Amino acid sequence: MEIKLDFKSKENTIIEFKRILLNDINIENFSVKTLKESEEEISLEIKADELKKVFTLKNYTKNMIDQKTVMAKAGLLLLFEKKYPWGALVGVRPTKLVRRFLLMGYSFEEIDEILKKLYFVFPEKRALLLEVVKKENEYLNDKSINMYVGIPYCPTRCKYCSFASYEINSKLGGFYNQFVETLIEEIKLTGEMLKGKSYNIESLYFGGGTPSILKEKDLKNIIQALYENIDLSKLKEFTFEAGREDTLNLEKLNILKEMKVDRISLNPQTFNEKILKDLNRSFNREHFDEMFKEIKKLGFVINMDFIIGLPGEKVEDILRTLDQVKDYEIDNFTIHTLAIKKGSKLLKDNYKIGEIENEKIQCKIKEITTLKKLFPYYLYRQKNTHDWGENIGYSLLGKESIFNIEMIEENQSTIALGGGGISKKVMRIDKTRSSIERYINPKDPYMYICEMKERIKQKNKLFEF
Ligand code: SF4
Repeated sequence: MEIKLDFKSKENTIIEFKRILLNDINIENFSVKTLKESEEEISLEIKADELKKVFTLKNYTKNMIDQKTVMAKAGLLLLFEKKYPWGALVGVRPTKLVRRFLLMGYSFEEIDEILKKLYFVFPEKRALLLEVVKKENEYLNDKSINMYVGIPYCPTRCKYCSFASYEINSKLGGFYNQFVETLIEEIKLTGEMLKGKSYNIESLYFGGGTPSILKEKDLKNIIQALYENIDLSKLKEFTFEAGREDTLNLEKLNILKEMKVDRISLNPQTFNEKILKDLNRSFNREHFDEMFKEIKKLGFVINMDFIIGLPGEKVEDILRTLDQVKDYEIDNFTIHTLAIKKGSKLLKDNYKIGEIENEKIQCKIKEITTLKKLFPYYLYRQKNTHDWGENIGYSLLGKESIFNIEMIEENQSTIALGGGGISKKVMRIDKTRSSIERYINPKDPYMYICEMKERIKQKNKLFEF
């Protein structure tokens, strides 16, 4: 597509936009001419080959973001009469855009109008976005930081998995003991780096992989090392992922309680055992229910993750699983849409996402969240999913996860330890923008073991605050 614009813009973002939302249309020449630009109004003539339209809008953005580029992209949707629930929004973090408008001084009413008239977002998605951002605003706190610990092992690797995860019985699983030793060493070295510095760790998150795969004594030793070496006195939340019931037992749960973990994420993904088995993931409902009861008895906040669109699942199967969620007293409920990601077996097998009757599923989710008084509190979108679908975290009021909010909004810096942990230093550029510097620990446990001591020096440079 040849692009001609009479204003400065990143043309590659327009090409990318066309690729994502108008991939089925062939355009040879695309041009945009400014007919009028004043403090009050912007008017553009948008042309794609033989099609032409004038797109006139209030000048919303006070020149702080490039409204003309957004109009050029949205103009393509107008020209080809394309309508999508998320309109011209193609970013992974739409809530970040809303927050940016807020920081620019717009009210929620004005932002709703911008999303409608400039981005063509459907009313239900606008309402969802604004509701989530209002909730996030109750928690966001860039004066604190968070900590992540990655345990890159799982009992088996699920076919859709793209995370830092290696099968415990594989060759790399043979490095488990050394991995645990290295992680404890990394915790100690991080503690030394932080000594004398002023920092508030507000939330701590064990992810992976499946952290509950850790043996009882290792679980205890790792968390103990954190308490002994890192100042966790300001901690408001400690989450531990126990996504696979086959890694859990009562002894581990008691250790987690004793170690002051307060949230557990149990992730069945579906209650359809046959589908899980086909995805290389074992699931025993009886044991799951038993663990759920124990977790509840011990008083943890419980999250459950589900994935919509797993291979082989029909809409009736998904509705059946969702109906069964009603039987569990959960605090958080997270709905993902299947994404085919790099590194997954599904991508290697060239698996293609099929159609799903999303309307029925959305109705069921609404029914459950209403019944259980769960409200959306964070969301993000993913490429290569059904309809560019969104992942939404729902919560009982007051039980929202600070860590999830801060991670999605990229508002706090993160110190990440362990396999595949991504450390982030968030730096404010101005009132409305920030930049992020990242440092990624090796995912591969062997590399992590070999390189941790050398690499931690580089990582620690991020945190010379
Ligand atoms: S349980 Fe999660 S991290 Fe482990 S293999 Fe499955 S998707 Fe990956």
